[in-house]
Amino acid sequence: MKIIKGISGSPGVTIGKVFLWIKKEKDLNYKGDEAKKIWREAKEALKEELNNRLLDLSETERDLVNFYLLLLDDPTFEEFLFEKIDEGLDFKTAVEITTERFKKEFLNLDVYFKMRAQDIEALKEEIFRVVVGESYPSLEEPSILVSKEVTPWQLINIPKDKLLGIVSEKGGVLSHLSIIARNLNLPLLIGANVLEIKGGELAILDGEKGILILDPSSQEVEKYQRLYERYKILQKKAIEFKNYVPKKENGEKFFISGNIGNLEDAFLALEQGAMGIGLFRTEFLFLERNDPPSEEEQYEIYKKVGDLFLNYPVIIRTLDIGGDKNVPYIQFEREENPFLGLRGIRWSLYEKVLFKTQLKAILRASIGNNIHMMFPMVDLVEEVIEAKKLVKEAVEELEKEGKEYKIPPIGIMLETPISILNINRFADFVDFFSLGTNDLFQYTFAVDRTNEKVSYLYRPYHPAFWDLIKEAIDSAHKIGKWIGICGELGGDLRAFLLLYSLGIDEVSVAPLRIPILKLLSSKIAKVDVSFDSLQEDELLEVLDKHYQKIMEEIGS
Ligand code: PEP
Ligand code: MG
Repeated sequence: MKIIKGISGSPGVTIGKVFLWIKKEKDLNYKGDEAKKIWREAKEALKEELNNRLLDLSETERDLVNFYLLLLDDPTFEEFLFEKIDEGLDFKTAVEITTERFKKEFLNLDVYFKMRAQDIEALKEEIFRVVVGESYPSLEEPSILVSKEVTPWQLINIPKDKLLGIVSEKGGVLSHLSIIARNLNLPLLIGANVLEIKGGELAILDGEKGILILDPSSQEVEKYQRLYERYKILQKKAIEFKNYVPKKENGEKFFISGNIGNLEDAFLALEQGAMGIGLFRTEFLFLERNDPPSEEEQYEIYKKVGDLFLNYPVIIRTLDIGGDKNVPYIQFEREENPFLGLRGIRWSLYEKVLFKTQLKAILRASIGNNIHMMFPMVDLVEEVIEAKKLVKEAVEELEKEGKEYKIPPIGIMLETPISILNINRFADFVDFFSLGTNDLFQYTFAVDRTNEKVSYLYRPYHPAFWDLIKEAIDSAHKIGKWIGICGELGGDLRAFLLLYSLGIDEVSVAPLRIPILKLLSSKIAKVDVSFDSLQEDELLEVLDKHYQKIMEEIGS
């Protein structure tokens, strides 16, 4: 068994043989007039191919094809290409340089235009394909198609009757490949290294976790077989529920929102029907670069995300580093126990400069939308008081600089048992709470989730743990505060039932999970359980029964 990691471009789970699509090496070194003739012929052939399909395409697909047609007919594209050919470059290099030049213009714009840049890249592949006369793979048995690059147009044209899912090295979550795969309800893994895949082996494509399991064990296959049947039906129906607005038992809105790490995720969350952002993990903006993002850079991103959702809350969590989250250009002093050391808000209060820059960016971005600010890993009221002092300092600096700002609602994450025990004490200092169950679990059970030797203790359904969650929800409501959850547990279907039953106000999950949760909430009913003396298997039995009932109502 071998696991290949990637990014989920489209959710769902599938099992089947791998069909490795190795594309022909393209030797396209035509020059001069011959190169121009090849271009004209390829252009006409491709236009004809695109036009022939135009009528039976979905709106998104048509949008893509119209963009291709526009570019193929753009005289400036051809002029630039011919200039390159006249300079003596061969056909392939000239097309590559031309598409690169057009791509660059789009790359400097917003995310949606970046998506267009990917389309230009993909169009280049279509031009080369037409010149060498390459055909689409025809699958003889149900298969997972794996290739270095599957372009959106190729996906549109590959017969779907035996296509179970796709793995492509190239592509982004907002690329047309991903959007079309989501519309087709086809699991897709992108950004996966396909070099080690032989082809012909059995594989499980888990578009939820973003992994491909090669040569799985029979137990894995059995486990996924069940999931597969369930997902096929659920996911198909879920697409219709993207815009559904769920209600809590008391009739108030039940928020299902998205966890994001960048602007691209925010667009994806919006597309999937998110009712706001429950967690913006801003530390991702600090990674993969050589220095921290400036106030201005952060402001631009926060403002865009805030404005994208306007009336729905966008919860921006301040930097959460330390523990296992390191930023390469920040020097961390060695700690014996990093998970119990300078993490989250503790680090921000210790190393105030970056924190204050971020606070200023959030304060400025909060004008005219519903941005909320949230501090991670808080234990005590004193930490909130200290952090708010820095908010005040940030305000004073902005005033001095003559910059406009708004102080947004301020909340904290509940990630340690002590923070939950302290909820009453937070009453006068915070506006809302969000349960970070990833950390809360490990700090409650004293279990490192990545340590196999103690994996038997990873028991998120232990009733005692749910007692703690219940206490958090009840205590927050008692002091009149809003409480959500942004840990992974919220996206687990059985946990989702329990959270709804306990009256939580919001569940925030990975964007692709949103439609399924909305579908579930359309048929959800409260489960009455008292965790007091319940054993874990008893709780799971109750939940399974309840879950089964909902499934029947949904019709799966
Ligand atoms: C959590 O701990 O549950 C959480 C959402 O924070 P992170 O996963 O970013 O640590
Ligand atoms: Mg956490």
